[in-house]
Amino acid sequence: MGYRIDTNCIHAGYEPKNGEPRVLPIVQSTTYKYDTAQAMGDLFDLKADGFFYTRIGNPTLDAVEKKIAALEGGVGALLTSSGMAASLLAVWNICHSGDHIVCSEAIYGGTFNLFNKTLREMGVDCTFVSPDSSEEELNAAFQDNTRCFFAETLSNPSLIVADLEKLAKVAHSHGVPLIVDNTFPTPINCRPFEFGADIVVHSTTKYMDGHAVQLGGVIVDSGNFNWDNGKFPDLTEPDESYHGVVYAKDFGKAAYITKARVHMMRDIGAQAAPMNAFLLNLGLETLALRMERHCSNALAVAKFLEQNEKVEWVNYPDLESSKYHALAKKYMPNGTSGVISFGVKGGREGAVRFMEGLKLASIVTHVADLRTCVLHPASTTHRQLTDEQLDAAGISPNMIRLSVGIENPKDILEDIETALKGV
Ligand SMILES: *Cc1c(COP(=O)(O)O)cnc(C)c1O
Repeated sequence: MGYRIDTNCIHAGYEPKNGEPRVLPIVQSTTYKYDTAQAMGDLFDLKADGFFYTRIGNPTLDAVEKKIAALEGGVGALLTSSGMAASLLAVWNICHSGDHIVCSEAIYGGTFNLFNKTLREMGVDCTFVSPDSSEEELNAAFQDNTRCFFAETLSNPSLIVADLEKLAKVAHSHGVPLIVDNTFPTPINCRPFEFGADIVVHSTTKYMDGHAVQLGGVIVDSGNFNWDNGKFPDLTEPDESYHGVVYAKDFGKAAYITKARVHMMRDIGAQAAPMNAFLLNLGLETLALRMERHCSNALAVAKFLEQNEKVEWVNYPDLESSKYHALAKKYMPNGTSGVISFGVKGGREGAVRFMEGLKLASIVTHVADLRTCVLHPASTTHRQLTDEQLDAAGISPNMIRLSVGIENPKDILEDIETALKGV
């Protein structure tokens, strides 16, 4: 589609024909009718395009997948039931027991557990690296059996901006794809395929939905990675469960995403529900508008916090004081996201008093919602840790994670100012 990204947020993926519903309909059907057994059989053999069972494909999901593929500039996408399912299937699609992955240590806690515990139990080993490492240090983490490099474009919650060109160069020099989680910036603020990433995953639960009404994930394939280097026989040799289909030959640039759908999703069944895809689509329609407002509000809040005497430190990559400002300008020129972290004076108690003084901002585990929300990791997600253990995890006892919403910025600032006075 030749339109710009904000137009694609609204229109890509669904073009109603004469007399069809203007708004993407919810196709709440598990199954689809065919006139002959042969027509259905051809679908099962992947010889024809069409829907036959909602685990593999559904018209509502298909439209949203096409929209997200257009936003990221990829050849295809696959919706999943959650962000966690997207990360698992993205890696599992190309990794077996006995393989190895390299992963940035600056990632979402859930993804860290998935790779550090569950994938290890499944026989896939993982080496964690700092995304700030030099090329030499990164190279040293790779092994002959390494099958991908995984990182977050803007990490949750540490807000580290990945140097995508460096990570892609290292991954490609080892013959493996770079998979990035682009949840926080969204394709509105960061287009990882333009900087060499090969596969993108998202938790659509966050900004893409933006209203906190559904859990979901998505995998997007750039179509750019050349799988034919001997490391990925699953993609270059016949799949007997589909009568000898060879994904790289039969599906060309869409090899990876086709396999993710017809192999991974067929066997694992972590597909999105049509109703959730419909809700996600409503969120996507306003994504460009919302991201602009999240970023302008967050920058105003970050600048305010930087000047406030009750605040010890502020971490927001769009601030000139940030160590990641140059990388943010390069990879996310329109802004990073609405998420800020900062430290309140007075340690753990000061942070708790601040949280309790807020009225507009609500205390929730969620981030990236249109409502401003806050989390104090030391008294919630990490409450079992001592101050020393928190320090080792890179979380100070006074750290507040603030997800700035799209309310009027004056109301957000007044709420924060009042709460800080009570610290
Ligand atoms: C929330 C989140 C996930 C997990 O997504 P769910 O939809 O909660 O399963 C993965 N990555 C990032 C960066 C996240 O913020």
